Amino acid sequence: MRQVNLIYERSVPGRKGCTLPDTVKKKPEILAAIPAKFHRGAPAALPEVTEGEAMRHFVGLSVKNHHIDKGFYPLGSCTMKYNPRLNDQAASMDGFTAHHPLAPCSSARGILRLMWDLSDYLSEVSGFAAVSLQPVAGAHGEFAGLLIMRACHEHNGQKRNKIIIPDSAHGTNPASVTSVGFQSVQVKSNDKGVIPPEAVAEVMDDEVAGMMLTNPNTLGIFETHIKEIADIVHQAGGLMYMDGANLNANMGIFRPGEVGFDIMHFNLHKTFSTPHGGGGPGAGAIGVTAELEKFLPFPVLEKDDKGQLFFSYDRPYSIGRLHSFYGNFANIVRAYAYIRTLGGSGLRRVSENAVLNANYLKVLLKDEFELPYDVHCMHEFVISGNRQKAVGVKTLDISKRLLDFGVHPPTNYFPLIVPEAMMIEPTETESRETLDYFATVMKQIAAEVKDNPELVTSAPHSTPVRRLDEVGAARNLDVAYPE
Ligand SMILES: *Cc1c(COP(=O)(O)O)cnc(C)c1O
Repeated sequence: MRQVNLIYERSVPGRKGCTLPDTVKKKPEILAAIPAKFHRGAPAALPEVTEGEAMRHFVGLSVKNHHIDKGFYPLGSCTMKYNPRLNDQAASMDGFTAHHPLAPCSSARGILRLMWDLSDYLSEVSGFAAVSLQPVAGAHGEFAGLLIMRACHEHNGQKRNKIIIPDSAHGTNPASVTSVGFQSVQVKSNDKGVIPPEAVAEVMDDEVAGMMLTNPNTLGIFETHIKEIADIVHQAGGLMYMDGANLNANMGIFRPGEVGFDIMHFNLHKTFSTPHGGGGPGAGAIGVTAELEKFLPFPVLEKDDKGQLFFSYDRPYSIGRLHSFYGNFANIVRAYAYIRTLGGSGLRRVSENAVLNANYLKVLLKDEFELPYDVHCMHEFVISGNRQKAVGVKTLDISKRLLDFGVHPPTNYFPLIVPEAMMIEPTETESRETLDYFATVMKQIAAEVKDNPELVTSAPHSTPVRRLDEVGAARNLDVAYPE
């Protein structure tokens, strides 16, 4: 017998899940206040089910998807770690959620104080003199940072339009460069997976506005020549931008603002306790050096002569406003709560354990899978499915097979410089047992590739849906219940 699991199919006339207070009947003035054209003529065609059935419906939907609360999620570059519920609880407090965004600063003292303190903590973690919490995504932070570069050069009477980007950069880097109207110039990483200073010197000229570097880079490798590269760029009048999305590897260990970077974005929704990858709102704070502070987006939090915080709009050099109100404020609260619960030493342990977990897993996997850069990694590493591809099983097939074991696949086919790439980021919140389980599953799949490749190429076998036409689903999205 087919299991009835769609809530409309479970509907039985007259069944009730709950009874709402009959406010409208008791207070006719409420109804009268709503224009007649908005009154409903007939009851809405909602499914009629008990509360228990409604519960089963929603829980059933939630377990059809993979999520971090259900299983391991080693999606490289995304830092899919467990985000403590305590931080969600803090972000849902009435004092934050019920505050009207148009209320005056004088009634938002606590909120402004939280933003001020968080900016301070992020300065401390990153080594930058000033932080803006306004950008609402990593890419938005990049966009802001590049606008600041342009504003700074224009302020100095210079017209520069090129940005140097490594071949291992995240796709958002060149996209942001184009959005701002700059052109990107690519430099190649060497056989150790890092950018050699000579490669930068070769393309550096007086049209270069700056360079964007990710550290650790998208191979999970620490860029070892930052100082020399920054000197080359600075001597020729350029600025250094760090893509800080991988900050989970650096906290308490390396401060980008101290080694020659001028601007950096944080991904609060990767490193600082907002789940990433669910398509929810992000927060991409940026940090800058003291020299660039005047270009930050306005309004900027300042203290008046009585020490009270207010939003200053009097910023003649600012690149302007990038987002309304306070940015994505709930993410800001979560980041604040996360930092306050862990403290400085806790943040350092986060990074140490993220790096330890990645190196542990890398060693477990390197016999069965090609490891193109066999060096000490930071918080993530990249293996290649080349060996498996040679016998007809693609990285995509391996990823689909992983779903049968309740594991989310790693990031596939990125970075582009590694063929059949699988980028694995275990994060610090996973136990040794989980890492061992993942390694065992990966080894089993490698064995299946040899003995029973069909099993892998036809996977997944146990998910609610099999292989989907992902392009079709994106182009012709239809989430309505079939009539
Ligand atoms: C995630 C990520 C970004 C972009 O961040 P979004 O918030 O998704 O815009 C940029 N660079 C790297 C290395 C990333 O991992």
